Amino acid sequence: MAEAVGFIGVGNMGAPMCRRLLDAGFDLTIYDINEDAVAELVDLGATKAASPAAVASAAEVVLVSLPTPDVVKAVALGPGGISSGNRVKTYVDLSTTGPRMAAEVAAALADTDIAVVDTPVSGGVSGAVAGTLAVMAAAAPEALERVRAPLEVIGNVFHVGEEAGMGQTMKLANNLLSATALAISSEAMVMGVKAGLDPRIMLDVINSGSGKNTATDGKFAGAILPRKFDLGFSVGLMHKDVALALAEGEAMGIPMTLAATVRDVWERALAELGSDADFSEIVKCVERRAGVEVKPPEDG
Ligand code: NAD
Repeated sequence: MAEAVGFIGVGNMGAPMCRRLLDAGFDLTIYDINEDAVAELVDLGATKAASPAAVASAAEVVLVSLPTPDVVKAVALGPGGISSGNRVKTYVDLSTTGPRMAAEVAAALADTDIAVVDTPVSGGVSGAVAGTLAVMAAAAPEALERVRAPLEVIGNVFHVGEEAGMGQTMKLANNLLSATALAISSEAMVMGVKAGLDPRIMLDVINSGSGKNTATDGKFAGAILPRKFDLGFSVGLMHKDVALALAEGEAMGIPMTLAATVRDVWERALAELGSDADFSEIVKCVERRAGVEVKPPEDG
């Protein structure tokens, strides 16, 4: 019989993960406040539930991929939340919520029979579609083994620790680097274009040289030069991640000098572009001030 799995939050990341779980033969029950997103997956074979609690009454394993710490807390612990389900044994949080929220939810669930797997992911929508996400699991070994099969459908599983929150810290370190790479690469690319360099040649040189990073190696060529801005990760979510990283670092007494500046850059992007803009659009904030666009010369 197909293994039952629940999934809550079928957005940019959750939907492709659910498609892979359906393709892999899992018996999937889903919930999201966005009815259209739910309907698309129901057409592919998922079962719609009326609440997070209903998902948690349909499966022993419930995965969530939700936008913010507050939403995660409400879905896990609030009225009609996962903790009120009568079948769930393992709660798997794929969202980026920061170590404090992960620890708070884990502490609240400690009195129940529900084990927690804190396992944020990295690799973007393309990684979710391909099943190649970096899956950063913090959990007791036996809890991780219970959910290894669905996690391996979505990516490469790394066991980074046992305490809830350690996966989150791993993810915040990763995304602080990703946010910094995109912000600083935007400044460098605009500088070159304003001086007359062809951005395609710039990328070839940088990616053969020591400036190569996750923004120059992929994001510029795929989403920015063709002006598609379609990476599927929002400015609002990236700002959240940088702010969480900064708060955690500062709480630990670590000098977060560059992180504070990177947070300011993403805050400006949030104000200028809005929360839902694709995070690759951050280049536009630099372009507007410079009066040039990062695109091949013949495109005008
Ligand atoms: P998204 O906004 O596209 O999806 C979130 C989904 O949650 C939406 O479908 C929304 O309707 C749903 N939702 C919101 N409130 C809800 C509630 N109360 N109950 C049920 N559903 C609710 O976000 P996303 O880009 O898919 O990101 C999800 C999480 O994964 C975030 O924590 C993000 O930081 C993280 N993440 C995103 C990416 C990416 O590239 N997009 C990569 C890695 C990690």
